[in-house]
Amino acid sequence: MTLTHDDIAALDKRCVWHPFTQMQDWTAGDPVIIERAQGVRLVDIRGDEYYDGVSSLWLNIHGHRVPEIDAAIRDQLDQVAHSTLLGLANIPAARLAAKLAELTPAGLDHVFYSDSGSESVEIALKMAYQYWRLRGQERSRFIKMTNAYHGDTIGAVSAGGIDLFHSTYRDLLFPTFEVPYPYPYRFDGPADECAAHCLAALDQILADHAADVAGLIVEPLVQGAAGMIMMPEGFLKALEQRCRDSGVLLITDEVATGFGRTGRMFACDHEDVCPDIMTLAKGLTGGYLPLAATVTSGAVFEAFLGEYNEQKTFFHGHSYTGNQLCCAAALASLELFETSDLLARVNENHATIRQALAEIAECEHVGEVRNRGFMTGIELVRDRSTREPYAWQEQIGVKVCDRSRELGMIVRPLGHVVIFMPPLASTAAELQEMLSILHRSISEVTE
Ligand SMILES: *Cc1c(COP(=O)(O)O)cnc(C)c1O
Repeated sequence: MTLTHDDIAALDKRCVWHPFTQMQDWTAGDPVIIERAQGVRLVDIRGDEYYDGVSSLWLNIHGHRVPEIDAAIRDQLDQVAHSTLLGLANIPAARLAAKLAELTPAGLDHVFYSDSGSESVEIALKMAYQYWRLRGQERSRFIKMTNAYHGDTIGAVSAGGIDLFHSTYRDLLFPTFEVPYPYPYRFDGPADECAAHCLAALDQILADHAADVAGLIVEPLVQGAAGMIMMPEGFLKALEQRCRDSGVLLITDEVATGFGRTGRMFACDHEDVCPDIMTLAKGLTGGYLPLAATVTSGAVFEAFLGEYNEQKTFFHGHSYTGNQLCCAAALASLELFETSDLLARVNENHATIRQALAEIAECEHVGEVRNRGFMTGIELVRDRSTREPYAWQEQIGVKVCDRSRELGMIVRPLGHVVIFMPPLASTAAELQEMLSILHRSISEVTE
């Protein structure tokens, strides 16, 4: 018996609770049901095709059904799907850790696996806190950035700053110090003073509280879920310098920016920044399987070394930590970066993106186009001259994305910011087509 669109839609609406979704709207609507995919296109159960314009939520790198990654997973399946990393080692987990140590900035050499970006952040926070305890210091506070997003588990939410997602849970969260992330377009003052304003706020917190602060956590170069907010040049380096000067650990969350998204392997590479702890997930397996990593410096790792009875162990782990299928997919993805010279192609094809975005920027209701590599946010405004935003009830971003879907591309908005994050392996011709759908959707819906 083959199940039809209507059969699956009925099952879905009866039993699946979708993430970040008002289920009352969902059950009233008609879902797209994905059946398969090829390259940068998703195919639904009715046979309709859509460009995967947000890389299946910022994950996908080489496209779908990549022969090399498919084969790596199948080969691993012929060996073993999963055995625990508690008390046992395994082949792909060891090989991948060595590869990550090689690729990440010099000094980051120790890899702690988990299954999602949120978990990689929880681990970073717990490690930073325990690191200071092990060194005989009580440092229980973290510095976070305004509008930060680090995931949806409670620790990650504590380190986050997006009111819509986070304010409901306020009573459950640990206290933090908050520093504004530079957002020149919405800065109350001259745009070129925005970064200095943010750094002054950080300096004040460090002057008053550095001895209580375990770490500063930041999305390097691009604040993703906030709506693709981009740091001015030199800002990340300035954060690193302040962390070094004040002895606070620098935690960079590269869950969204990692693995080529910004045009370099990691966002930190653009400014030669070496954090104490780096979190990775999303693109790690090329968008195939759930795997995350928290990568630390030798200094952090070594603080946890001691005789068993000293109780310096990092008591943390998950059932699927270091899963072999996931690690095999990640190894195959990273190998493809090399064999397909992917970063060079990303930087070549960036010209196509830049050109099309320059045209989109001319639309009457486009306030600002923000782009770095294959990360783009297009902020829609009711009035360009006053920068007056659309009312959130208008769901302008949703309407643009609905139109894009009708025209053959899946994209998702963040409020009134339309996000475009195609797979890194998209060709210039594919990018051109995706961007023309985007352009048309924005013009039709906003004009
Ligand atoms: C998506 C994201 C996370 C959370 O990752 P999940 O795998 O969804 O838990 C954390 N940090 C950043 C910067 C992200 O973009």
